[in-house]
Amino acid sequence: MQNTKFTYKDAVAVIDRIKGTPMAVEAIWDGDTQGWFLMMFVVVKTKNRFWKPREAKTYHLGNLSFGGDIRLFNGTVPPYPEAVLATEIGNKLSEKYKIEFFFPSPINPDDDCPRWTEKDKAIRCADCEKLIIPTDSPYLPKDICYNCHLTREKNERVKSKTPHDDGINLFLCQGNEFKNIGYASKFKSFPISTYIDYQKRNSLTKGVEVIVIENEKMKFIAKGLEEAIENELLSYKEPNKDDSHISIEKVAFKDQEYDLMQRFNDHHEKISRLIGAYNQTVHAIENGGQYHIYFKNGFTYRDDSILRFVSFNKKGSARTDEVVSNYDGVLTASEVLETIEELKEAKCLEFRNDIISVTELGRRVL
Ligand SMILES: [Zn+2]
Repeated sequence: MQNTKFTYKDAVAVIDRIKGTPMAVEAIWDGDTQGWFLMMFVVVKTKNRFWKPREAKTYHLGNLSFGGDIRLFNGTVPPYPEAVLATEIGNKLSEKYKIEFFFPSPINPDDDCPRWTEKDKAIRCADCEKLIIPTDSPYLPKDICYNCHLTREKNERVKSKTPHDDGINLFLCQGNEFKNIGYASKFKSFPISTYIDYQKRNSLTKGVEVIVIENEKMKFIAKGLEEAIENELLSYKEPNKDDSHISIEKVAFKDQEYDLMQRFNDHHEKISRLIGAYNQTVHAIENGGQYHIYFKNGFTYRDDSILRFVSFNKKGSARTDEVVSNYDGVLTASEVLETIEELKEAKCLEFRNDIISVTELGRRVL
């Protein structure tokens, strides 16, 4: 959904045009390919007519949408700004018309919540007490909401120290400047990996391994990629440009442009990835840059969770007791302290007085 919003005044204008007595305003989450948004409605009781008895009718007031769910990855929500605004509008309407404001999920998006008219069919989530219509999926628990189900699963991985050491970060380093230029769960997804001799150590010692690709090696990689591209271009076939359904990108390789299909053509996608890596490497060499590759060893979901909590929720540093209390009911204080100690050993966290901070190394493996 495009960014849309409406105001309290707009809502009042709609409600005053509707015939009937307002009974409730409701805010309900919905989602599309671009993410979650909120829909607001008013429920009115129609007049009693001899040909038609009173009934509850729902009218749409408007939608609130503030942008895609990329926000989730940046750790900026909750609070969802649309939920904050809906609460403000809903409370004002509730006051003006002396009616209920029904917003079953004000913290997190959820489309399993009941509408106001089906409240009686709803149950309360056993964990967060939110009203929900129990799911009919055979794979999900019926007594909790989807969000709490995900939280339980996440907590279970944190409790059981499920291994979590895939995830490689690739940085371009020029002087003191570090730029993250790629993340992949498997090293072989990077086209440059073919030219780098790396064997993941199966050691359980927690730590970060950084591979620095020096100038000579950078040239070796560029040469290797160049040969691979030339080899692939021998069998290059131009896309059918009459087909309006395909999207084509123009990719430059050594002063020549190639039309490559962005989807549904494995060969074109491969060439595109190779040329992208080649151009990036050549550019880096020209500017005296190096690749720094960060591998994690022996990390678990527990490490990842604590590192993320300090990094994102606490913006880089936190007091020990803040970290401990974040895991209330999931981990004991000594389990948290032990993990902090291990992350310190792995040089991802450091202590100063009672403050824990994420190191540069710690930030680069997230
Ligand atoms: Zn819940």
